[in-house]
Amino acid sequence: TKAFDVETIRRDFPILTQEINGKPLAYLDNGASAQKPVAVLDAMDRYYREMHSNVHRGAHTLGDRATAAFEGAREVVRGFLNAPSTREIIWTRGTTEAINLVANGLAPRLQAGDEILLSHMEHHANIVPWQMLAERTGAKVVPIQVTPEGELDLDSFNSLLNDRTRILAITHVSNVLGTVNPIAPLIEQAKKRGVITLIDGAQAVPHFKPDVQALGCDFYVFSAHKLFGPTGIGVLYGRAELLEEMPPYQGGGEMIERVSFERTTWNVLPYKFEAGTPAIAEAVGLAAAISYLDQLDRSAMEAAENALLARANALVATVPGMEVLGTAKHKVPVLSFKIAGLHPSDIGTLLDQQGIAIRTGHHCAMPLMDFYGVPGTARASFAFYNTLDEVEKLFTGLQKIQRLFT
Ligand code: PMP
Repeated sequence: TKAFDVETIRRDFPILTQEINGKPLAYLDNGASAQKPVAVLDAMDRYYREMHSNVHRGAHTLGDRATAAFEGAREVVRGFLNAPSTREIIWTRGTTEAINLVANGLAPRLQAGDEILLSHMEHHANIVPWQMLAERTGAKVVPIQVTPEGELDLDSFNSLLNDRTRILAITHVSNVLGTVNPIAPLIEQAKKRGVITLIDGAQAVPHFKPDVQALGCDFYVFSAHKLFGPTGIGVLYGRAELLEEMPPYQGGGEMIERVSFERTTWNVLPYKFEAGTPAIAEAVGLAAAISYLDQLDRSAMEAAENALLARANALVATVPGMEVLGTAKHKVPVLSFKIAGLHPSDIGTLLDQQGIAIRTGHHCAMPLMDFYGVPGTARASFAFYNTLDEVEKLFTGLQKIQRLFT
């Protein structure tokens, strides 16, 4: 592992060394999508220059190379999640598609009156597919309450988990609040009742490595693009036993064993869920991102991220009227906030003029916005390549905006 020196690390991310609106870029929108190290760009470039062909066709050398790179990437992802087998690693377009795939696959298990337990802090990607499933089956979506601090209300969880609960689908980390949910004990309680568990890891994996065996969840999903990898690919980890029983999601090439007009049979795992030509270069890129992260010092990286959050929290008081949503004890470096008298979208535009990129709006979490009684927030989300200097810049920018516009 390399020593953790943020200036050295930033050289691995070419996009960061540019000026936006005449100011050095401070990219603080990592929760929406993270930037990619040279290792990822090079791996994808090299794949296309030296290896590209379709996979699993086996007739020629390039096909073998592409297949080896693609299946090698699946093994890297398996290791990242500590999944027992690559049969349990399904490529998807991202978190959204992975959740849709599972919701579709669990339909045969559900009956009218069954309950799907979510939380009030879910991203729309972990709400809408379940609502669609509920519509199809007569099941009901039930949200676990959130406390004003932005933590899961465990009393609410305990009172809602009951004999009708069939599925618990919950986010590991909130994309709005940064809260790290105590999912291990929740999974444990759900499992005792035979409830199927899905964890949305989209915002967790950029900050720490999940261990699906230690967690004991049935499904764990994430997107490559938030993990410093490419867009267009994501991962569904699923327990083989459940994946075996689930019907395919899409039909087409690759996902079949034998096709005839009388009867078609499905391919083995994981291919049963991978219809059509997959995102091969993107799989290679994701594996390169994971390998890149693996050579960094994880504990130093987490300490650096905590230092960014601590500095940001300490500076909140320097902006009159600023209020942070989500003050959970255990959180990743994400700061959602409002400033009295200012609209979030104006904050975003005015910061952009100073080269500072943040996200504003409802963050695909409208039920959570309703809970806090706001139409949206401004959100700064940090990655390990951000600096304390960038945190200072954000707050200097906010002070300026607050002075000029309120
Ligand atoms: N869940 C969470 C918690 C997210 O933050 C996001 C992305 N904002 C998603 C799901 C959806 O991910 P994607 O758009 O990559 O499918």
